[in-house]
Amino acid sequence: MNAQQTYQDIPAYARLSRKSRGGQIESVPLQFATLDRLAAYSGHSIGPRFDDKALSAWDETVERKGWEAFLAELDTGAHRAAMSYHADRLSRNGQDTERLLSVGARWGIVLITPEGVYDLGNDDSRAMFRMLAAMTINQSDAGSRRARNHKAEARRQGNLRITHGGPPPLGFRQGRDDWEVDPAGAEYLNEAARRVLAGEPIEAVHRDLGPITTSPAGPDSPGRPVSVKMLRAALVRPVSAGLITDTEGAEVGVAEQGGPLDEPTFRKLQVNFGSRKRGRPVETGRYWAGPVLRCGKCGNQLTGERVRRRGTDQFTDYYACKNPHKGLQPHPCHGCSVPAEDVHALLADAVMAFAETPAARRAAARGPETAARRAELDAQLADLLDQSADLDAKRLRIRQPVARARYDALAAEAEAMIGSIEAELAELERIEAEPGVPVVIDWDAMTPAEKLATVAEAVETPIVVQPGNGGGAALSAADRIDLTPR
Ligand SMILES: [Zn+2]
Repeated sequence: MNAQQTYQDIPAYARLSRKSRGGQIESVPLQFATLDRLAAYSGHSIGPRFDDKALSAWDETVERKGWEAFLAELDTGAHRAAMSYHADRLSRNGQDTERLLSVGARWGIVLITPEGVYDLGNDDSRAMFRMLAAMTINQSDAGSRRARNHKAEARRQGNLRITHGGPPPLGFRQGRDDWEVDPAGAEYLNEAARRVLAGEPIEAVHRDLGPITTSPAGPDSPGRPVSVKMLRAALVRPVSAGLITDTEGAEVGVAEQGGPLDEPTFRKLQVNFGSRKRGRPVETGRYWAGPVLRCGKCGNQLTGERVRRRGTDQFTDYYACKNPHKGLQPHPCHGCSVPAEDVHALLADAVMAFAETPAARRAAARGPETAARRAELDAQLADLLDQSADLDAKRLRIRQPVARARYDALAAEAEAMIGSIEAELAELERIEAEPGVPVVIDWDAMTPAEKLATVAEAVETPIVVQPGNGGGAALSAADRIDLTPR
């Protein structure tokens, strides 16, 4: 390499990328502008320009037309120099590195970057470049590991937005890095909780409190009107008390900002909804849950039976350990029975809670809504990337610290929004890749078989029913049945 040597009509390459620190976008025009300055300063001039605008630059499976054309141009043998905005644009993966090195060695090409000049015709220089490439590749791999651990880490740190994904649920609004409690939604939920715990039917509470919408997820993503079902779900889901749950639904922590409901209220609601009787008319197929119920004493499958209430003409439906069942070894112990209505109410509640989980959203997300949401997010993302790159370019021309700080704040804001959109896109991608179940829309309208299938999707089966204790202070069905969300 000769510091005095100048080159003309140098092929130059830029690739849209994101800085590893701070995640700022570096636009292609911005990169070329820097290369132009560098060339002018050193007495070089840039000839053909090549670029790629895909962000996932280090994915070896992504075809990069600009990169291929750049290599082909260098391999014509017509050039003694090449330019790139930072060497890591060229060395994100091992294949790219070796192809560039072999073309560079073949034609004795000098690679000029803002960070340094590499004489690819020189063995030592190529060795240096390989090491640099190895380090960059390692950084990129570490980035992927971080992405995989992102959710687990968010869970450990108590970040609700990343743990759950999607727009903020009722009672929350979008904060800077996480959801925060939305005062209006929280007031609404607390009033609803108070009245439900006082014994008012939730439908009446919902009607009386009047219309409310969830908080908007962004300028183009307005809040949704809150239905009875949404209110009910909000009252029973752990996140409403700021509780962090793992993928199995087990509570593993509490978010720093808490939730719209305090934990004691939330627990009371769980009990309230869990043990509520529904009083639905009994139809045929009334023992539909039988196949998944097991006696907690002997393990036998429970059987439906009608029992006449003492001294009346009225009957109560029970699931009981009564008949032997094929495939199950134990003889019935006759030591366990539970009102069917209570079991059904519990299972319905579990399904309603399930309807608000990521697993159910997964199912809900398949179909046209997902496509629409994805298109919306993609458009927002593209727009934000443009804005971000634009801000970056403008910031470079600004000298006053105050103005710079303002640009930095705007860039950080755009970055946060990009992060949130990418998180939701990733969630959508995961959702679309997974098989799902029918979305629960109208429980009461479902056939017994549909109910059974949906319960099996929502909670672990078989479901063990512990023996009751009878008498005046009898344990409720909720006390005796532990439902584990899938
Ligand atoms: Zn039994």
